[in-house]
Amino acid sequence: MIPARLPVWRVEWLDRGVDANTPAHPDYPNGVDHDISNGADNTCKMPVPYPALRRGYYLVTCRTCGNQAVVTTAGRRDDPRSLKMACKNGAN
Ligand SMILES: [Zn+2]
Repeated sequence: MIPARLPVWRVEWLDRGVDANTPAHPDYPNGVDHDISNGADNTCKMPVPYPALRRGYYLVTCRTCGNQAVVTTAGRRDDPRSLKMACKNGAN
């Protein structure tokens, strides 16, 4: 059981320290909602800071079930803005 005041997901950004070396994908000028739930019944969806400062990774951890995922960032307009993944403990 987690305290109610804590967010359900923990988001950590791992900074690679370098800027993007390719232009943003023109089809995603407002960011990308990543869905890696693979059609699971129980999912969590969490916004991530958008856009990221530069190239790196978001390490996202669900505090209720321990699931983790990594999404890459580039510091561009086509960066991730949310992540949806399967949750072993039900919908959040
Ligand atoms: Zn979970």
